Amino acid sequence: MSTQVTLIPGDGIGPSITDATVRVLDAAGVQLAWDRQLAGGAAVRAVEDPVPDATLESIKRTRVALKGPLETPVGEGYRSINVALRQTFDLYANVRPVMTIIPGGRYADVDIVLVRENTEGLYIGIEHYVRIGDDPRAVAESLAVITRFGSERIIRYAFEYALARGRKKVTLAHKANILKASGGLFLDVGREIAREYDGRIAFEDVIIDALAMKLVLNPERYDVIVTTNLFGDILSDLLAGLVGGLGLAPGANIGTSAAMFEAVHGTAPDIAGKGVANPSAVMLAACLMLEHLGDDERARRVRDALTATIREGRTLTRDLGGTASTDQFTDAVIARLRA
Ligand code: NAD
Repeated sequence: MSTQVTLIPGDGIGPSITDATVRVLDAAGVQLAWDRQLAGGAAVRAVEDPVPDATLESIKRTRVALKGPLETPVGEGYRSINVALRQTFDLYANVRPVMTIIPGGRYADVDIVLVRENTEGLYIGIEHYVRIGDDPRAVAESLAVITRFGSERIIRYAFEYALARGRKKVTLAHKANILKASGGLFLDVGREIAREYDGRIAFEDVIIDALAMKLVLNPERYDVIVTTNLFGDILSDLLAGLVGGLGLAPGANIGTSAAMFEAVHGTAPDIAGKGVANPSAVMLAACLMLEHLGDDERARRVRDALTATIREGRTLTRDLGGTASTDQFTDAVIARLRA
């Protein structure tokens, strides 16, 4: 029986780039049964809810989703899509691999996976103002909450990911020199867990500001990086910048009860419906999904066909300097797969 996967085509360019991805996976011989579900703007128009229960039920059942970009509906009464998905499925790990695909860029040899804690830290949302005299916003306070439980599971995830993917080193990024409690706990937990992997995965810890500089100077020195929520948010864009921007960046959100795979970019409303979007980031997200499902071989084949098509440079979408349509680019990837 083929594996069931929830497919959320999404908004804007979403349907065309997810269709392109499904075509490529079919051509690679991937046997998946897609359960198509709505979310985002399409869902608001159909059922007046950006995250319909039917979609959540589907993901609960399949435990795996491939998601196109979603338009965030503006207006009162709509629940936040990301919050609903993160809370329902406890998506605690945000995993963003970045690697050099386009030759001739600033760095030739970047291959880094960032593992970002996604549920705690400064993003936990415990914030308030303090009134002094007649200024109601004289002071603003935001609480950074780091738990031993949350630190253990994200750091262990990073080590297990490194082991499973044949990677060599985990770098833990922190600011424990200043944030002695929250940063200190995260670092201490990291050092404890690292001992369990001694001799199998190398470990180092680096202060976040120093790491930012080192990544720009020598990104090829880094392998898997694990860090807390806010630092991960900032580092993930820095890493994307090392390899030419967000256009080719996939992401995975891993939870205790489900995993969701998506492109990092949005719905690209300026080019939606024109058939010119670059489907690469969703295709790379689909490769992460295949690895999650244990199909490393097909993930590698699809990724190789995609990177070879881009490196060859003959059939490129407009964002990469070419003139090909989404369909033409997809056909070129499929031709490579069949070659
Ligand atoms: P965007 O990523 O959609 O677009 C930024 C620029 O990059 C645009 O010029 C766009 O044409 C281009 N671009 C993006 N993806 C492309 C692709 N695959 N091929 C070619 N060009 C591409 O960012 P935005 O304009 O700030 O956001 C538009 C909408 O997307 C908003 O509603 C936002 O909330 C939503 N969004 C959703 C997600 C998500 O669901 N994961 C992420 C980011 C933004």
